[in-house]
Amino acid sequence: MGNRSLDDFRDDGTVEPAVSTYVARRGECAACGASAERRWQGEDGAVCPDCKEW
Ligand SMILES: [Zn+2]
Repeated sequence: MGNRSLDDFRDDGTVEPAVSTYVARRGECAACGASAERRWQGEDGAVCPDCKEW
């Protein structure tokens, strides 16, 4: 991961709302294996807030 600015997302042409990556199901984090009530879809799967790269 580099230093991505907000401009990178604008130039991409497709602005993804943050809510689209939200996983509204309890389960294990794909990164650290911890059980989380809320997860976000990451590159490797659903991850907990601690592992989510904002
Ligand atoms: Zn995690």
